Amino acid sequence: MNQSLPFVHELAPKLLTRELSSREVTQFFLDRIEKLQPSIRAFISWDSELALSEADKIDRRRASGESLSPLAGIPIAIKDILCTTDSPTTCGSRILEQYRSPYDAHLVSKLREAGLVILGKTNLDEFAMGGSTETGFQGPAYNPWDLARTCGGSSGGSAASVAAAMAPIAIGTDTGGSIRQPAAFCGVCGLKPTYGRVSRYGLIAYASSLDQAGPFGHTISDLAMVMQVTAGHDPRDSTSLNVPVDDYTSAISKPLEGARIGVIREQIDGEGLDAEVRQAILAAIDEYRRMGCKIIDIALPHTKYSIATYYIIAPCEASSNLSRYDGAHFGFRAALNSKPVAAGASKQNSPLVEMMSQTRSQGFGPEVRRRIMLGTYTLSEGYFDAYYLKALKVRRLIRQDYDAAFEKVDVLLGPTTPTPPFRLGEKVNDPVQMYLEDLFTVGANLAGIPAISLPIGKTKSGLPIGMQLQGPALSESRLLQIANDYHRAIDYRPMLPPIAAD
Ligand code: GLN
Repeated sequence: MNQSLPFVHELAPKLLTRELSSREVTQFFLDRIEKLQPSIRAFISWDSELALSEADKIDRRRASGESLSPLAGIPIAIKDILCTTDSPTTCGSRILEQYRSPYDAHLVSKLREAGLVILGKTNLDEFAMGGSTETGFQGPAYNPWDLARTCGGSSGGSAASVAAAMAPIAIGTDTGGSIRQPAAFCGVCGLKPTYGRVSRYGLIAYASSLDQAGPFGHTISDLAMVMQVTAGHDPRDSTSLNVPVDDYTSAISKPLEGARIGVIREQIDGEGLDAEVRQAILAAIDEYRRMGCKIIDIALPHTKYSIATYYIIAPCEASSNLSRYDGAHFGFRAALNSKPVAAGASKQNSPLVEMMSQTRSQGFGPEVRRRIMLGTYTLSEGYFDAYYLKALKVRRLIRQDYDAAFEKVDVLLGPTTPTPPFRLGEKVNDPVQMYLEDLFTVGANLAGIPAISLPIGKTKSGLPIGMQLQGPALSESRLLQIANDYHRAIDYRPMLPPIAAD
């Protein structure tokens, strides 16, 4: 297979006409994984034999004349936080290092039903807590555009795998920006769908009211094709939306017809935005204006509280969700070296409590422990009202800002991240600096709305820059269309970083 074909829109038609087999395509990506994994570390696990045997099944079905979905035979990489029965699901945590799920995540079943071939499970921050893919027990992933820099996080492995063409498309999850920020840092497209649009069944929970899974791809049309397969109601997730799924793939080709684009002024004029990112965003606004869109300035006055709100709510939910990892139910259990406790000893000193406490302190890394402690503290009596309840109220105000904005505009435009990808090691020991990276992305999770990041250019030193578009709940079609039209207008061509191009 020819090197210039790692993109879905070029592969899918050739698979359909059987000019290429799924085995050939899968082998091509497996070879690239073998070659690039040592320098990029985008994957935690992959199984070449399994992937090839799945590919063969699709080839046989196609040869027998069965009509298959447009993505049948295309390989895909999955963030290692979605349950799969045929490979480990580690969440990048020692505590789940040996865990095998007895069931597939809903989203994984949907991909399998549509004939996609799972290549492997991608690197992430431990339990998706982080913004740099540095906190997992397996070590960091590296940005294919500059190996000294972060590929973003927490779905950094998924973004890097697509950027380096180790996979044509990938799945990530986004609780506060973990699809959009790595997409921006790696120069690919990423979509966080509306909360509830894609089932969370089998997506290991970090913060349940914010988590949502979505696709990475080189083009907006790749995102639309994956959404077509993964969106939809699932009775096993009580927050799954029972509303019809749009035709995303045909929506993106419709003409824009005078879209109203809201420009989030405080994000563009505010301090802390890198000058080259600002310049690229201003150029994109000009382009939309040239395309006949109406540009309207919008204020979201409560966004200044969004980081504080998110970093109260997410750790609270995490502390509750992660209480299940106790050494008794899942995965890792610490070996006890303490002496047996005398009869009549207090409960706190019992071997069971000792085992649980050792398991959790050895099994979780420092960032996860920090969040569990923060969340437990915030939810405790006396602090609950002052912090958690207050954060819920501010969350409502943030949502109301968006509601008011979407009465005036179709989408909101701004940068995805304040800076281009930062250096590995630069922020991992400084949580506040790391958390500030999420400034522009957490709002969409708090409000439950869809948001997309698309590449719009590069800095002088060749690092990718991303633009974020946010829309009202269930406006994925419109978002994809507005993003796609921009790429069409600038004649955007997906690019491979030098490390992946030879
Ligand atoms: N960086 C954010 C955090 O650390 C977002 C993570 C995510 O979206 N999973 O929580």
